[in-house]
Amino acid sequence: MEKKQFQAESKRLLEMMINSIYTQREIFLRELISNASDAIDKMYYKALTDDDLVFDQDSYYIKVIVNKEQRTLTIRDTGVGMNREDLENHLGVIAKSGSLSFKEANQSKDGHDIIGQFGVGFYSAFMVADVVTVISKPVQGTEAYKWVSTGTEGYTIEAAEKEEPGTDIILTIKPSTDEDNYDEYLDEYRLRSIIKKYSDFIRYPILMEQTSSRLKEGSEDEYEEYTEETRVNSMVPIWRKNKSELTPEDYENFYTEKRYGYDKPVKHIHISADGAVVYQAILFIPGSIPFDYYTKEYEKGLELYSNGVLIMNKCADLLPDYFSFVKGMVDSESLSLNISREMLQHDRQLKLISKNIESKIKSQLLGLLKEDRESYEQFYKSFGRQLKFGVYSDYGAHKEVLQDLVMFVSSQGKQWVTLDEYVSRMPEDQKYIYYATGASVERIEKLPQTEMVADKGFEILYLTDDIDEFALKAMNGYKDKTFKSVSSGDLGIEPGDEQEQTPEEAEESKELFDYMNEQLSGKVSKVKASKRLRSHPVCLSSEGEVSIEMEKVLNAMPD
Ligand code: ADP
Ligand code: MG
Repeated sequence: MEKKQFQAESKRLLEMMINSIYTQREIFLRELISNASDAIDKMYYKALTDDDLVFDQDSYYIKVIVNKEQRTLTIRDTGVGMNREDLENHLGVIAKSGSLSFKEANQSKDGHDIIGQFGVGFYSAFMVADVVTVISKPVQGTEAYKWVSTGTEGYTIEAAEKEEPGTDIILTIKPSTDEDNYDEYLDEYRLRSIIKKYSDFIRYPILMEQTSSRLKEGSEDEYEEYTEETRVNSMVPIWRKNKSELTPEDYENFYTEKRYGYDKPVKHIHISADGAVVYQAILFIPGSIPFDYYTKEYEKGLELYSNGVLIMNKCADLLPDYFSFVKGMVDSESLSLNISREMLQHDRQLKLISKNIESKIKSQLLGLLKEDRESYEQFYKSFGRQLKFGVYSDYGAHKEVLQDLVMFVSSQGKQWVTLDEYVSRMPEDQKYIYYATGASVERIEKLPQTEMVADKGFEILYLTDDIDEFALKAMNGYKDKTFKSVSSGDLGIEPGDEQEQTPEEAEESKELFDYMNEQLSGKVSKVKASKRLRSHPVCLSSEGEVSIEMEKVLNAMPD
């Protein structure tokens, strides 16, 4: 037996890594299973060029085996295996990835399914194990070897017995302490849930023994325990399936299974993008507002997978704030991950994906608006406020994305109306898009200011949400029409057959207005005669940029 030291750099790197790269210990299992899957993939690629090898999908699997007495956890695969040299080169030198070299050497064939690339994942085993033993037999070779390491102390290699080609990675799990529980990595139930979480879509079966009980044969009340091997992962991710194979229920089940929400989503969006950036996504518009949605606690984001392996639970960069209600996941082959796979190295691909997703969400919402008005209104009641915040944010920079998605209640039948609908039914002599603000539709309807506009038969948008007017101001206008508050000084409406106030009349009432101006000084800036009133004797109006309602909101804001 030969004992070798890790190279000095490797030793330091190993210590550093064990302590700092990964934030969660449980990912060691993801890394080892990904390696096992890579090893089977390599068999597949080898078989493409080597006539002596046949790749029969059914004989390839990954097995996770627990031995509580010996405190070992074994990850077994039937992949390519490693010879002595491989063990030394691939496991003895940290940051050297056999998988990356394999991919580079096989560039002509699409080896893009292979996950490994950094040559550090294997060492994450030392986060939970005192000793790691690797017994491997290469598919092209007869001799098996055993590699053993306690982590920083180096490793030994010696000949070993192994019948089938492939690799066993045997972890001797650390003893639990007061602070750290390692026993959980010997608990089948916990292991299954880790596998489900990170490795559900590995394309080969991940098998585990499962002990259950059943009625003893011939007995009616006596039970016996029995063990069987079951597959833990679901293998084919729903997002890789053909849309035509999937029913609405499949999507709803996925939504529930993933715990995106307990409600029934209003809509699902299934994307398979094959352009500048390749990705699949399944997105949902929730049916109701998450309880913490309009609070600081709410975290937006989509699950991010790289090649079927979960990388991030909530990748916030994938969603703009105004679509923060969207739930779902994205899987891509074109991401460059950082070493721990917890973050992304460059955000260029991610930016492309998020732009792409944004326009998909927009067009799907527009589709919903057109085809299923009722569902859209249900959606809008929940998340319309967020869209309006989006319009207002960044000085109206997102206007193009959002202007056709926002709706307001209209004076016509008190129905929701989009700006497009409003403009398309404007009479020719109407210059502006009119709006009125107030605490409720009922109160707005009592406003004297609405009378003149309503009398002309012009439609008015009723703004009852305090963000509404800010959103309109940020938009500036819609198509070539600008917005006009019914309480602004100049309404742009011809006075019609009304009598102008003659200079004599003005002279007559001058005394009255002087008196009113004096009495109300400091409260209003001016009192004057108006032609816009019908049944009301008096109304308030404003002349500047800021309407009376906006003033109220601004005054109520903390300094
Ligand atoms: P990476 O997966 O990023 O290449 P790892 O540290 O996870 O890095 O693994 C290092 C290398 O060890 C792999 O590239 C591969 O060549 C080899 N290896 C690890 N596990 C196995 C396995 N189960 N079967 C065959 N080779 C393996
Ligand atoms: Mg790896």
